Amino acid sequence: MHTATLTELSIALKNKKISSRELTEHFLARIKQYDPALNSFITVTAEQALQQADHADERYSKGTAGPLTGIPIAHKDIFCTDGIKTSCASQMLDNFIAPYDASLVTAFKQAGTVLLGKTNMDEFAMGSSNETSFYGSVKNPWDLARVPGGSSGGSSAAVAARLTPAATGTDTGGSIRQPAALCNLTGLKPTYGRVSRYGLIAFASSLDQAGPMTQTAEDAALLMNVMAGFDKKDSTSMDEPVPDYTQSLNDSLEGLKIGLPKEYFSADLDPKIAACIKKAIKHYESLGASIHAVSLPNCHLVIPLYYIIASAECSSNLARYDGIRYGYRCNNPKDLRDLYERTRAEGFGDEVKRRILMGTYVLSAGYYDAYYIKAQKIRALMIQDFAQAFKQVDILIGPTTPSTAFKLGEKTKDPVSMYLSDIYTIAVNLAGLPAVSIPAGFNDGLPVGMQLISPAFTEAKLLNVAHRYQQITDWHKELPENFK
Ligand code: GLN
Repeated sequence: MHTATLTELSIALKNKKISSRELTEHFLARIKQYDPALNSFITVTAEQALQQADHADERYSKGTAGPLTGIPIAHKDIFCTDGIKTSCASQMLDNFIAPYDASLVTAFKQAGTVLLGKTNMDEFAMGSSNETSFYGSVKNPWDLARVPGGSSGGSSAAVAARLTPAATGTDTGGSIRQPAALCNLTGLKPTYGRVSRYGLIAFASSLDQAGPMTQTAEDAALLMNVMAGFDKKDSTSMDEPVPDYTQSLNDSLEGLKIGLPKEYFSADLDPKIAACIKKAIKHYESLGASIHAVSLPNCHLVIPLYYIIASAECSSNLARYDGIRYGYRCNNPKDLRDLYERTRAEGFGDEVKRRILMGTYVLSAGYYDAYYIKAQKIRALMIQDFAQAFKQVDILIGPTTPSTAFKLGEKTKDPVSMYLSDIYTIAVNLAGLPAVSIPAGFNDGLPVGMQLISPAFTEAKLLNVAHRYQQITDWHKELPENFK
């Protein structure tokens, strides 16, 4: 039952082949059995999940169920959940019980999904390997000595090991797509403003976006039908029409123009990954698409650009953790200054402190123009690069990551090498665009992800292009040996 997709589970529930309680009990048992090896959950909400499952079963008998009613899911521990610990994987929020639901959480409750629990992540979503979590690193189900990617690594490991049929994640510079790629999942980062950020604990507000992490593009469409839409509680949410994302999945790709950004196939890319992507492109040609070379000339600047902008925004957003209102507070402070200093020194981990320091530096009076303003100008150029490319083609395709899952501990001593693992994902966040990573093969037994990028608010097209590929390939059906 755990190998079924959301679409299959939805049909089984509707036809009363299975009850939500049975399904929920099955996944809770899998979490109990397998999660000690993976560490993908911070909190498991078993009791509440069973109540929600019974409620969902009632909706089925009353005929008021929707497509996702009764389906278990997990939320990244960055989304506020009323009455449930919401830690952001930080000691700073280890004792924080959220007093309200994020809008996304409310939407899933209304759809009738069952919350299995909250997934592990990098502290405040800062990281690419899930090794910065206060609760310890998450292991990749494909090889327990390797990282699942980050920062939504708990969500990716949990879905890959089928401890939950689907999960939510957030993506500020690649945190949905990169872990999806390293764990053989479909991970969609929607257009900035497509999914409400209300109740999503802020890292870098101009980049953060929530999205689905699923087995297939079809499943991502089902979750997007719940998540997407305008929310007056989020001033950056966009009031754009929301299509039914499942409707266009089977559209023909005849005449589709695919662009290959030459910067995405440079020497930094593992040649075996390049070979997988090239093979996938051949499949698209067989479906009627044409292939074109394009260029994103400012893309080589993404890493410094992102680390200036994201750090600047995080230093401002994380100023709220002062030990006064909520969260961690140091013991026996001698005065107010000592309270602030020790609370923050003890409550935040090293990577978060590194970002706060960097962000405070680039925003300081003497350096604001030289770093922050300059970065914003280059960001504008990067947005133009994509606009230019989308005048020539409908969609861009490239790798999601420069390598497959790396070993735990391999990059923790060298932050810059860690930062480089997002080299192909970050530009999309800076430009506010939607992008999806889908399984495209294996290299030495480890999953390879392919990234598809499209113009703002064209997630339906993106999922259509992803789905058509998944109809003629089986990569997404592969399961890690020890979690079948
Ligand atoms: N790895 C990137 C970082 O550490 C992106 C993280 C994210 O998307 N949340 O900032």
